[in-house]
Amino acid sequence: MTSTKVQVDIRNFELEDIKEWILSVGEPKFRAKQIFEWLWKKRAVSFDEMTNLSHALREKLAEHFIIRPIVLDIYQKSSDGTIKCRFVLHDGFKIESVLIPVEKDNRYTVCVSSQVGCSLSCKFCATGQMKRMRNLDAGEIYDQYVLINEICQETYDHPLTNVVYMGMGEPLLNYKNTMRSIELLTAPYGLNMAPRRITISTVGIAKMITKLADANTGINLAISLHAADDVKRNDIMPINETNNLQTVMDSLRYFYNTTKGRISYEYIAFKDFNDTIEDANKLAALCKYFPVRINVIEYNSIPGVMFVKSNTDTLDIFARHLKKKGIMMTVRRSRGKDIDAACGQLANQ
Ligand code: SF4
Repeated sequence: MTSTKVQVDIRNFELEDIKEWILSVGEPKFRAKQIFEWLWKKRAVSFDEMTNLSHALREKLAEHFIIRPIVLDIYQKSSDGTIKCRFVLHDGFKIESVLIPVEKDNRYTVCVSSQVGCSLSCKFCATGQMKRMRNLDAGEIYDQYVLINEICQETYDHPLTNVVYMGMGEPLLNYKNTMRSIELLTAPYGLNMAPRRITISTVGIAKMITKLADANTGINLAISLHAADDVKRNDIMPINETNNLQTVMDSLRYFYNTTKGRISYEYIAFKDFNDTIEDANKLAALCKYFPVRINVIEYNSIPGVMFVKSNTDTLDIFARHLKKKGIMMTVRRSRGKDIDAACGQLANQ
């Protein structure tokens, strides 16, 4: 990297690039590491904060680079403790992140977005109604974690314990930035988080799951299944037409054999669509390939979408049937019903 007068976001550069720049302006190499730690360990949002650098170097940095953090725009807290935030990006786009506290288990999870909008058009999803505008860069994903962590500390006097890439967008279609953000969360120069506390949630893009397996980062994987046969899945998730269930299962088996990472299925129960005993049997059949846990989720209805949530009784019968078959499963009651809880609803406003 050579010095340039065009201001670019320094957070898009790797340590080696910053070292090169530091040497080009006549500073010792170790300064690059200090700058990197300010950016990723201490989340400095201006060069003035980097107080162990000389005034002259801070001025030089400000001449060449900018830092473009995301900014909190709307905050909503549900009566059940769920907190949803909308953030504005440097170019005016909006994304959302959700803090889901489970105080009795000391579990505080942030759900982060990976794209502005989404290209996959799942029929039941508020984000799917928006076009994909752009990928988030790694810093924008990392910022969601850091800002929600501050809110978590202030509200619950506890740091975040987990992160799931389950907000707006498909993380495996923004692979490079998703992986870099995981590096920032887990690296010693970043937040030093254990990879097992991170889960990527995907609709199931087989070749990207294989690639993720080969990267062997130690993270977990959640598959947004929502239907247990190809006909129904094609109907609600167009991605299934090019990545059918068998192909996805093959890639998951590879992921499990390669990484031994935890795999879970997310299954939103829709009334009269996927909540019968026959559906439960098909779902159970998809649990034979590797150890897997199923999260059956109550649907949060969104305006303009024909799906509604399953009746509580139907859902109980469905869950009992799976349990009788020895399937590890949990029913997740919908959270944040009194706020714009469905993914993409707040950002879409
Ligand atoms: S469910 Fe996920 S992949 Fe499908 S449209 Fe919504 S954000 Fe995109």
